[in-house]
Amino acid sequence: MICDFCKKELKKGTGKMFVFNSGKITFFCSSKCEKYFFMNRSVKYWKWNKHESRSKVTR
Ligand SMILES: [Zn+2]
Repeated sequence: MICDFCKKELKKGTGKMFVFNSGKITFFCSSKCEKYFFMNRSVKYWKWNKHESRSKVTR
């Protein structure tokens, strides 16, 4: 597994696993990476959302 934020390789049993509602699974080497990952995500999402039309965001 690879940390989804810093892309470092993780050993099994270390780090954190996060399962999205969509079923996508991500791994983080630390809670710091987890935090930053979600911070980045929401920033990108909001920037993108302002740029694009809202209709593209709805599933
Ligand atoms: Zn990491």
